[in-house]
Amino acid sequence: MATVVKTVPQPVVPRMAPREDLNPFRIAQIQFDMAAEYLKLDPGLRQILRTPKRVMEVAIPVKLDNGQVKVFTGFRVQHNVARGPAKGGLRYHPNVTVDEVKALAAWMTWKTATVNLPYGGAKGGVVCDPKRMSKGELERMTRRYAAEIQPIIGPEVDIPAPDVYTDAQTMAWIMDTYSMTVGHASPGVVTGKPVSIGGSEGRSDATGRGCLYVVEEACKVKKISLRGASVAIQGFGNVGSAVARLFAEKKAKIVAISDSRGGVHNPRGIDPLRAIRYKERAGTVVGMPGASRISNDELLALKCDILIPAALENVITLHNADQIKAKIIAEAANGPTTPHADEVLARKGVFVVPDILANAGGVTVSYFEWAQDLQGFFWQVQEVNSKLESVMKRAFNDVHESMRKFHVYPRAAAYILAVGRVAEAMTVRGLFP
Ligand code: GLU
Repeated sequence: MATVVKTVPQPVVPRMAPREDLNPFRIAQIQFDMAAEYLKLDPGLRQILRTPKRVMEVAIPVKLDNGQVKVFTGFRVQHNVARGPAKGGLRYHPNVTVDEVKALAAWMTWKTATVNLPYGGAKGGVVCDPKRMSKGELERMTRRYAAEIQPIIGPEVDIPAPDVYTDAQTMAWIMDTYSMTVGHASPGVVTGKPVSIGGSEGRSDATGRGCLYVVEEACKVKKISLRGASVAIQGFGNVGSAVARLFAEKKAKIVAISDSRGGVHNPRGIDPLRAIRYKERAGTVVGMPGASRISNDELLALKCDILIPAALENVITLHNADQIKAKIIAEAANGPTTPHADEVLARKGVFVVPDILANAGGVTVSYFEWAQDLQGFFWQVQEVNSKLESVMKRAFNDVHESMRKFHVYPRAAAYILAVGRVAEAMTVRGLFP
């Protein structure tokens, strides 16, 4: 398997790590530039694709339960719409910044292109601490945010979905707010909705399931059997917990899991269903009986076959990349690995299934949901899952071909594929006016 890295700068890996630039948007640009270089993209097109098409910042005044008003800041960024409507999740987190949302929007453009969906890329974020807000406060904030971004969303324009700390209920509130304003039910304005209002069967597990399908393919490349393989998962939210459950169903051994408060480890295996029940009660996996406590950093450096970051950006950096022992990393999170870390991992021969492929199952079933909404005709879960499997496996195959063709590691191959598809759409459409 060719893992030669050509155009990424070749840093000498020093003991004292130099300061890495962890700004997610600049990281997204570095990743894009690398692909643009391989594709010898026209300089004008490069300029267009390096920056988002549209950035909206909104003030969101919310009446809190104590009667006071608090103004939250929210963003919606649309990176590119050459291949179809903008598509991407909405994130609630205290550390949201406009640069993070810009990066996440660009990654959505490359993700939808990697799996070949007729979409562009977008992302939303609100700076807030959802864990410290009541359900009523979250509803009022979500509805006001939806009303503020209403001019730039819609089933043919930009379609939000869940992301970190948002869920089907959040989408239901956005769908209702939008529908009340346009005067009729408009299920296609968001995906990841409850099934009762036009959501799709299989959507809640889709990111984890898509990750499983591509890891099955990566295992073939690395000649590892998924059955009995040891798996460490960082993050135990919607995605991480589904990954644990689905991988365990395939008889992989979940040796460690973690959340924002820390992690647990048991080399003989952790039962994901028990962990999910424990977390429901305790609010964390930490303290779960039958496993010893470890930190998030220790989890990343564990001896295991497959490592699955399923939380936030920049967890695998130049600082710890050298300590990674996994043979395969599947990025269920967006942006977990920095470009410097990528370089180290490529040299170590770790097969990194990049985020824009590894977690694309979520947006793929979002696409199925939207297609079902638009036609008003719904599929059974088996149909959703088998269509998901074929999209993911074909995308893995396309990326693998691109690896062979350009002699690059998987992330570079996926970017070359995705950027090439978007560039083609931009070129054939031409520049307006
Ligand atoms: N937030 C998910 C992602 O990062 C899903 C986006 C979507 O379904 O539109 O891919």
